[in-house]
Amino acid sequence: MMDSIDEKSMIGLACSLISKETVNPPGDEYLVKALVVKSMKDLGMKIKIIGDKKRPNILGEVGKGHPSIAILCHMDVVPPGRDWKTNPFKAVIKSGRLYGRGACDDKGPYAASWAAIKAVLSSGKKLKGKIILGAVADEETGSTEGIKLLLKKKKLDCDFCFIPDGGRVDEAVIGEKGMLWLKFASVGKSAHGSNPDKGINAINNMANFLSKIAKLKFSKKIDSHFSGPTINIGEIKGGDAPNIVPSYCEATIDIRYPLGIKKEDIIKKVKSMISFYNRKNRKIILKEILQDTSPHLLDIKKYPFLKKFLEASKEAKEKMKFVTIGGNSVAKLLYFAGIPSFSHSPEDIPTAHQADESVSLKNLRRCAILWAKFLEKTVL
Ligand SMILES: [Zn+2]
Repeated sequence: MMDSIDEKSMIGLACSLISKETVNPPGDEYLVKALVVKSMKDLGMKIKIIGDKKRPNILGEVGKGHPSIAILCHMDVVPPGRDWKTNPFKAVIKSGRLYGRGACDDKGPYAASWAAIKAVLSSGKKLKGKIILGAVADEETGSTEGIKLLLKKKKLDCDFCFIPDGGRVDEAVIGEKGMLWLKFASVGKSAHGSNPDKGINAINNMANFLSKIAKLKFSKKIDSHFSGPTINIGEIKGGDAPNIVPSYCEATIDIRYPLGIKKEDIIKKVKSMISFYNRKNRKIILKEILQDTSPHLLDIKKYPFLKKFLEASKEAKEKMKFVTIGGNSVAKLLYFAGIPSFSHSPEDIPTAHQADESVSLKNLRRCAILWAKFLEKTVL
């Protein structure tokens, strides 16, 4: 298996993909279409293309029946930003690392997935199930043109998904916290800034309220796979001028909560805090819930493919830990659409979404080997 990883082609593929500026927004994933299609044809895959002409989702398929696994990588990248030492769209290899936008997120991992599948197919054995390799669009700005579209059109026909994006080389992600974005409004009364007592300062009231909300107490009984809940006061807007008592202010907080805590309880606590706070003639309102996702976790006992991933790691002599995160990824979308999904990536030092994004070539190879072993255990 180790020797059957076609490292040269893997690195070549990653470099070619990086050279295409599939920056999202606007996306322009069509720029990698020819490369991706060719790479899939090289594996003898049947190819389906779904979505807008400029935003293709490309699915390659080999084998049939069950178990069926989809390996989904995204082809869009975040804008390069500034401060690069090299051209972000010209792959550079230096000291064992590959530099370029998308090196780690998620074009390098596409190349490693491709190499893993190639190694599995080169064994010549007949697959007992199906492998789908996906190069999807629009992951970086919400997946409307990507995985959400595939789910809506029921184009993902698989038992489970593996997402080579997220986690680290020694950590696979099997669960994510729930996310609640709550927008509050504070309504006051304006007055001349020289006479603050004549008005009701909406910013002041919001600031006081937020300092209390930041200390909100949650249930202590949380699922042991998760860390505790977090609250970020992320946005505040209000006031017109320094010499006016502000009559209006808005703020949005971002709560991430683990399994074990219920959304209804959070909302109830927030509402009771609001009424307690408002008893002195102040006016804070819960104006809107902007984001609302539930926590999720894959149960190792329920999904044998997770056990197989650990076995494959062991065989590949990789230390592997299953973890949960506070972030929300496509794995959650897929999970709630009925497709259990987990993620793992070659990342070591985090460089995604930063200048000089890079991936360790050794880690790409390690992932290709591990993922090939995982595929062997699941579909061969
Ligand atoms: Zn990504």
